[in-house]
Amino acid sequence: MRKKIVAGNWKLNNDKHETAQLIVALLSDPIPSDVRVMIAPAFTHLVQAKTLTEGTALEVIAQNMNAATSGAYTGEISARMLNSIGINQVILGHSERRAYYNETDLSLKEKVVTALEHDMEIIFCFGEELDQRKAEKHFEVVKSQLEIALFDLEPASWSKIILAYEPVWAIGTGETASPEQAQEIHAYIRKIIAEKYDNTLAESVSILYGGSVKPGNAASIFSQTDVDGGLIGGAALNANDFKAIFQST
Ligand code: PEP
Repeated sequence: MRKKIVAGNWKLNNDKHETAQLIVALLSDPIPSDVRVMIAPAFTHLVQAKTLTEGTALEVIAQNMNAATSGAYTGEISARMLNSIGINQVILGHSERRAYYNETDLSLKEKVVTALEHDMEIIFCFGEELDQRKAEKHFEVVKSQLEIALFDLEPASWSKIILAYEPVWAIGTGETASPEQAQEIHAYIRKIIAEKYDNTLAESVSILYGGSVKPGNAASIFSQTDVDGGLIGGAALNANDFKAIFQST
């Protein structure tokens, strides 16, 4: 039985004070025991976030990392650095990283390998763009993304992989895939994992949906058989909205 997961990606938002305020507000009610709740603050606030969440069920994760462990990569953050402050989970392949920083499935494959070498759990994001959906190419697009970035992994590595299907046309746009659209493609994703590996592995992988999830639509999306929770952007910046979303699982 897969436990639901709700992860908030805070992106380039919140200074030190706002980060602390939001964490304190999130912790003002107990985190339900049937859901894993994660937050991804900026790198500069990860240490503070770890301190504030110590002893709680709120998990602190990173938004990105470099494929290299050390070296001449000005401005970058490594898995080893994250490990050293107790961060063992990372989001990789967010569509904004793909769009603005030229990340590709091939370059993400390297990041995935490095993250796994550092025993990190990975939320791997992928999903089609609007023109691809309109051309009904979304199935082949997600298949190719997974084949390139993840399908060379050993079966055992999949215990560290959480998938986040995020149709690019739904991210930060207010447009959401309908619950039926989400279920259709999540079931397809699980099917191609089963074909590549086996049913047991496919059934064990958590597949999150991301794209304009709000308190009003979370329950209907999360109730779909193959939707195991969500990756949340905008609504994760408001404590009441984010709580309402993770309480909808
Ligand atoms: C995201 O950035 O991963 C995301 C899903 O954003 P939003 O919820 O704002 O669409």
